[in-house]
Amino acid sequence: MNIHEYQAKTLLKKYGVAVPDGIAAMSVDDAVKAAGQLPGPLYVVKAQIHAGGRGAGKFKNNPAGKGGVRLCKTADEVKAAAEAMLGQVLVTKQTGPEGKEVQRLYVTDGVDIKKEYYCSVVLDRATSRVTFMASTEGGMDIEEVAEKHPEKIIKVAIDPVAGFQPYHARQLAFALGFEGAANKSAIKFFTALYKAFVELDASIVEINPLIVTDKDEVVALDAKMNFDDNALFRQTEVAAMRDESEEDEKETIAKNYDLSYVALDGNIGCMVNGAGLAMATMDIIKLYGGEPANFLDVGGGANKEKVTAAFKIILADPKVKGVLVNIFGGIMKCDIIAEGIIAAAKEVSLAVPLVVRLEGTNVEQGKQILSQSGLAIIPADNLADAARKVVEATRQALAA
Ligand code: GDP
Ligand code: MG
Repeated sequence: MNIHEYQAKTLLKKYGVAVPDGIAAMSVDDAVKAAGQLPGPLYVVKAQIHAGGRGAGKFKNNPAGKGGVRLCKTADEVKAAAEAMLGQVLVTKQTGPEGKEVQRLYVTDGVDIKKEYYCSVVLDRATSRVTFMASTEGGMDIEEVAEKHPEKIIKVAIDPVAGFQPYHARQLAFALGFEGAANKSAIKFFTALYKAFVELDASIVEINPLIVTDKDEVVALDAKMNFDDNALFRQTEVAAMRDESEEDEKETIAKNYDLSYVALDGNIGCMVNGAGLAMATMDIIKLYGGEPANFLDVGGGANKEKVTAAFKIILADPKVKGVLVNIFGGIMKCDIIAEGIIAAAKEVSLAVPLVVRLEGTNVEQGKQILSQSGLAIIPADNLADAARKVVEATRQALAA
């Protein structure tokens, strides 16, 4: 799960990570009020969207104008910046050409920057260790640095048993060239950042830029945090920060119904129970010359609500020209599944061919219920038959 910059900074601050003061704003009035509560004389108005590159981004309604991070010297400038951003669509390198609508702002205390750096904490799958990545080349496109000057990114891996040690912090601070007060401040910063990463079950914390201020303090000027969805049950504060308006609607429904869903590029929607069966179904669709539109595992205990939600997710994808339901009734009985399919198909007014392959407990009753439903369901007897039929029906639907 992703959160906004202002939320990430709120969390990090609790762990002692230095961040500039700031106040979230949902309206122009809020933003002006926020400026009144900050010391000044410099304010920064920042668009809050789940994407980076805001500063260099462009608003769709004013492509020649400024981006989503604006330095302001007066409350009037804050007001003008808020008016220019709220409700407008911001396009950045990370949003794709469609951009994202700005619904929230963050008004922060403007900081004097001596130098910008890069720092992130990630789980390195190759070493199975929480790893710091840091670079003196901050503020800019870190992907470009990684490609052209990989030697300018240093990595420090943390042993999970011993945990973060003072020498790790010193190693990072030394690599970035911090001295004196900045060095002391950096050591505190990295130590706090590691604690936040681990205790909050984060999967990524990215600070770009990490800065040294004119007073030699090390501060997170920007913050991006990602969390492990599987740990959200014990991270109630983080879970409450979820902003569904920033998420793909299909993925939101999938999460709410506990469905495993991954969108793909093809045109055959798949609804399957069990991850292994879902993989096998995708493979066999490809074997028969088709392209799956998604991976979707409704899980072992799929009920009518889950099946309906799964149908809605599949059909919300305009690329889908045919659907294959492939369910093994083990824990669930086939007749119950058949009823769920019918209810769901009626509720979402299914307009593309639907091939259903059922197997398992009460399979005969299940097939009978489907054939008597009056719906144009194409029954299939086995996996190969189902794949052949859905590929053919989709081809015909596309040609029609
Ligand atoms: P991003 O573009 O989405 O990554 O947003 P950032 O929060 O990283 O801001 C982009 C850039 O704006 C930073 O790299 C800074 O150069 C600049 N910026 C942001 N906040 C301040 C600030 O308080 N003072 C100054 N001088 N520059 C800032
Ligand atoms: Mg940034």
